[in-house]
Amino acid sequence: MLLEVHDLKKHFPVRGGGTVRAVDGVSFAVDAGQTYALVGESGCGKTTIARQLLLLERPSAGTIRFDGQDVLTLGRTGVLAYRRQVQAVFQDPSSSLNPRLKVGMLLAEPLLAHGLGGDRAALRRRLLELLEIVGLPPGALDLYPHEFSGGQRQRIAVARALALQPRLIVLDEPTSALDVSIRAQIVNLLADIQRSFGIAYVMIAHDLALVEHFSSAVGVMYLGSMAESGPSPAVFGAPRHPYTQALLGSAPRPDPDHQPAEGLILGEIGSALNPPPGCKFHPRCPRAVPACGKDLPRLRQLAPHGDGKPVHVAACHLLV
Ligand code: SF4
Repeated sequence: MLLEVHDLKKHFPVRGGGTVRAVDGVSFAVDAGQTYALVGESGCGKTTIARQLLLLERPSAGTIRFDGQDVLTLGRTGVLAYRRQVQAVFQDPSSSLNPRLKVGMLLAEPLLAHGLGGDRAALRRRLLELLEIVGLPPGALDLYPHEFSGGQRQRIAVARALALQPRLIVLDEPTSALDVSIRAQIVNLLADIQRSFGIAYVMIAHDLALVEHFSSAVGVMYLGSMAESGPSPAVFGAPRHPYTQALLGSAPRPDPDHQPAEGLILGEIGSALNPPPGCKFHPRCPRAVPACGKDLPRLRQLAPHGDGKPVHVAACHLLV
């Protein structure tokens, strides 16, 4: 496995008492060249996990192993090497790209920071190569980000993420700030890049149709915990957790026969500050039984483990 996340937690005390359990014991793994998607409503903890993978936040507990190495115990040199191999593309390229730098400098910056620029001619060759990969013309090097459309700016962000030839890219809602008409182009670009360079993605997304189409495995999170996880065809084809069923049932899908269901989830998502006892989903679950308010359901394996592929698991008392 390229990336193994085990029992990751992010808890922090709040003024006035209580503890926010933003991430509460999450595990998943991503193989080289594969895409693992994290889905769930806002506030479920998926963005905190992305920040932890990028070492922008330190977990309270748990491990992150990359290529077998414990990332959280790396020294300065190890962190630099990790940062070279793990890059990110964020939701809004307007805020992730420095507006005062021309595209040439935006793309050169990571190479120069890691001492990988080479001589002037080699650097220029690499920048032109990056532009070609993302489908932008050579003239883009001399322009500023504001001189491009939103979709083109996201292409620049992708080129910048590719500059250091990473093995993993964290995609944090990579298409949600873009016009619907542009989204498919960026998704296709990311898929082509994955095929060409064997890069793994951890994708944070709201758009379930995109996740179904794009990811090899998916984790459905609820209030900081994994409700269900497994190969995307299994989770989308036969979801087992009532939350996954409700999420998929209420989402618009490309299937013309699919009618979005309403009212499957009761009320609003709860708070990660002092979450409900037992199953965190129980106040909203249409299938809750008395045990759900008392006992925390553990993740259960739903299908036999095979060939090192992701295992289908879900945490619900109904799955015995
Ligand atoms: Fe619903 Fe109970 Fe299953 Fe939680 S454990 S998802 S409340 S049935």
